[in-house]
Amino acid sequence: MATKLPKVPVVIVGMGWVGGIIAAELAKQGVKVVGLERGKPRSTKDYYMAHDELRYAQRLDLMQDLSKETITFRNTEKMTALPMREHGSFLLGEGLGGASVHWNGQTYRFLPYDFEIYSKTVERYGKGKIPDGMTIQDWGVTYDELEPYFDKFEKMAGISGGEAPEGLVGKRSSPFPTKEMIKTPAIKMFEAATKKLGYHPYMTPSANLSEQYTNPDGITRAACQYCGYCERFGCEYGAKADSVVTVLPVAQQTGNFELRSYSNVVQVLNDGKKAGGVVYVNTVTGEQFEQPADVVILAGYLFSNIRLMLTSKLGTPYDPATGKGVVGRNYAYQVGGGAATGFFDDKQFNTYAGAGSLGMEIPDFNGDNFDHSGVQFIHGSGIRLFQTGQRPIATNSVPAGTPAWGKEFKQTSLKYAYRALTVASQGSNMPWRHHYVDLDPTYKDVYGLPLMRITFDFEEQDRQLVKFMSGKTSEIMKEMGATKIGSSDQLNPYNIVPYQSTHNTGGAVMGADPSTSAVNSYLQMWDSENVFVVGASAFAHNSGYNPTGVVGALAYRAVDGIVKYLKQGSGMVV
Ligand SMILES: Cc1cc2nc3c(=O)[nH]c(=O)nc-3n(C[C@H](O)[C@H](O)[C@H](O)COP(=O)(O)OP(=O)(O)OC[C@H]3O[C@@H](n4cnc5c(N)ncnc54)[C@H](O)[C@@H]3O)c2cc1C
Ligand code: SF4
Repeated sequence: MATKLPKVPVVIVGMGWVGGIIAAELAKQGVKVVGLERGKPRSTKDYYMAHDELRYAQRLDLMQDLSKETITFRNTEKMTALPMREHGSFLLGEGLGGASVHWNGQTYRFLPYDFEIYSKTVERYGKGKIPDGMTIQDWGVTYDELEPYFDKFEKMAGISGGEAPEGLVGKRSSPFPTKEMIKTPAIKMFEAATKKLGYHPYMTPSANLSEQYTNPDGITRAACQYCGYCERFGCEYGAKADSVVTVLPVAQQTGNFELRSYSNVVQVLNDGKKAGGVVYVNTVTGEQFEQPADVVILAGYLFSNIRLMLTSKLGTPYDPATGKGVVGRNYAYQVGGGAATGFFDDKQFNTYAGAGSLGMEIPDFNGDNFDHSGVQFIHGSGIRLFQTGQRPIATNSVPAGTPAWGKEFKQTSLKYAYRALTVASQGSNMPWRHHYVDLDPTYKDVYGLPLMRITFDFEEQDRQLVKFMSGKTSEIMKEMGATKIGSSDQLNPYNIVPYQSTHNTGGAVMGADPSTSAVNSYLQMWDSENVFVVGASAFAHNSGYNPTGVVGALAYRAVDGIVKYLKQGSGMVV
């Protein structure tokens, strides 16, 4: 029996980037907010002198406990999905700050093309360019409408970055708030090579602070030390923007925000039209609480968001047989593959140092920045070189043909320890009618709720994209002067085991049409007006960029929607 608590105006499920931003912005405007986080509290001091690769990067100390809750996966509907019992293809966050604590900080804006992908593709190439079954759609919001929210997120987080030519990226209303990060010798080589080839390199937008910075909320943070223990680690300097060092302290200072850790939300109470609050379990004591609220925000990353919608019977579940229903629709991922690794016999690099988003990128083959008439795919990839810091356990690049063990393996891996660089392709991923998430019919979590089931594979579109991009990355690596180059233009079927990227998208997508989207352009549910579902779950497809710049912008836009909704008291926000 759940203990019923006094009603609050707003309850937020999940205290990652999204939850933190919404909590801070609402609390600043005088709205009382309760934030529920299933994991433990965290602060910067947890990471002092903790460059422990085994604990954080290999044993994944900061990630979700999969023995309590995980997902199941299958490539096609003909298969039986099985649970992901160890972290693999992606790493799910848990605890205060969510995955913002252990992300890299590569903070891109998607392209104007992304938000109007269907219209712009048809306009340039005709409907025939979109293959049967590919369910791309416009997002119901344009780049220009989102621009002020990108700007807010970047100023709050202190993002730095280089200038890319207008036309190849979206127009900015103001420059990056901090200066570019340091260009290392490896980055300079990439810059020279790509310029020589006629491309347009620019320093990657970075949430690793390039200099000490005070943001508009008055939060001051120290500069990045290029320690190289960034992705999968918390930052001991507070230099990496995460919600714990930026927005959550602001929320707390207002006196309008109450954080409840160890609080796992298991149900959104609703009568089929509106939500009445949430039920959560204290993960330490096992006690259940009912938290009534005027507005419920789902900010628990897409698997949690969609699972709560489906188990709480919010919205119409997606049915791949008919293509109808919206909750679970348009799941997409990121297409890796197509990278070129160069081995340099005559050069050594300082790649033991680095930062999560220290890198350079060319936009020339992303989005619709090049003519797709002669290729069998749409969209593209970000082609980039990162220097994130090569840590001793994970780093072991050796040229093809090297034995996998023994004396020669040891000698070769020592020789190339700091002589290998990679030009990578981060490929966009389009949604398909048969790629979706739903409730698993067999497997349940510790609370007896069904797990999320993913049905997903790479398609011919993705294989063609990788083949094309592989040619580009190899061309750049050759120009950089590598002695030997290892690359592959093949893309295997999607495999949940090796880490690829935590860029899962879709499932509760935004749009202008309630028959193909779960939320409107303010992230407000069409079918339950006082529920806002915020995060990458709203992406109608995934771009050739990391997602969190857009996630942050959408969180700020959702705040405007929530405030409007609280003022008007009912109805859809426009
Ligand atoms: C290793 C790694 C590197 C990354 N690097 C980058 C990068 O460089 N650039 C980029 O753009 N993106 C990157 N990402 C992705 C980025 O971290 C996410 O896009 C971002 O954190 C999403 O924010 P969020 O608030 O939606 O979700 P999260 O940060 O995952 O936060 C969700 C929170 O909700 C909580 N929660 C979930 N369900 C419940 C529930 N039922 N009850 C209570 N609480 C709940 C979780 O515990 C978690 O704390 C990376 C991710 C990983 C794992
Ligand atoms: S690389 Fe920089 S931002 Fe990343 S953890 Fe180290 S000091 Fe922090």
